[in-house]
Amino acid sequence: MSKAETTIEVRDLTKYYGDFQALRGISFDVHRGEIVGFLGPNGAGKSTTMKILTCYMAATTGTAKVMNIDVTTDSIAVRARIGYLPESVPLYDQMVVFDYLDHLAELRGVPSSKREAAVTHAVEVCGLGPVVAKKIDELSKGYRQRVGLAQALVHSPDVLILDEPTSGLDPNQIIDIRELIRSIGKEKTVLLSTHILQEIEVLCDRVILINGGTVVADGNFDELYAAHPAAERNLEKLFRLLTASNAPTPVAPKAAAPVDASKYLPPESNAAPSTESSES
Ligand code: ADP
Repeated sequence: MSKAETTIEVRDLTKYYGDFQALRGISFDVHRGEIVGFLGPNGAGKSTTMKILTCYMAATTGTAKVMNIDVTTDSIAVRARIGYLPESVPLYDQMVVFDYLDHLAELRGVPSSKREAAVTHAVEVCGLGPVVAKKIDELSKGYRQRVGLAQALVHSPDVLILDEPTSGLDPNQIIDIRELIRSIGKEKTVLLSTHILQEIEVLCDRVILINGGTVVADGNFDELYAAHPAAERNLEKLFRLLTASNAPTPVAPKAAAPVDASKYLPPESNAAPSTESSES
């Protein structure tokens, strides 16, 4: 892949939740026109990284930039350049689809003179024409997911961050949403988190694999398989190889941990504490 414009730059991100270190120095770059699979077992730190990138949460140390804008110093500018589809989209059920998208476009700074065109474009791209005048609570799961994608891209962001975009959809809907992501990824940057490894294989140019709050692999499929021949060009095997047995245990360098959680975890666990969130 040619080195296009860098759209996401992450350097040495750390994040502590109390004494627990969830991110232990994450660094990566993503470029325009890339669809990157952001992979890792539950508790690896994917959601934490995505929340920092989308300005929902501050890092403890390190920097993250979107379109060369620092997420901590200018979060409003970053929010205007980034679209985020969380795993469960907070939709306003009582709103009509068009009005909802118009409202979100307004919140993200699309000027009123351009809003109708922006919403119409998002409706078209996401195939929402048949339901544009319906209330959100009348929609099927598939259409709700499309509304989620439409809200993520209504302000024409340069970077899209998608957390489990096809979860809960039927096979036809999955194919449609993947087509959509593929076409969006030609011009934008897409960072995609999913546990469906086949989705990564069919959609992504590159994989960033994290485990225990650190990046354990970053590259295109050829590079990753060349570096890890034991994976036999199989993404599932690569995932197992890099995440199953060597999960770091939680450490608390800033203060002594009251309990060593690793003692109570099975050997193949990701060493997450019992408070682990169920996100992603
Ligand atoms: P992933 O998205 O890869 O499943 P997360 O970023 O959600 O991982 O979580 C990384 C680690 O941080 C996990 O061990 C999780 O339990 C912990 N964690 C996440 N959110 C919080 C929180 N709000 N408070 C305490 N620990 C948290």
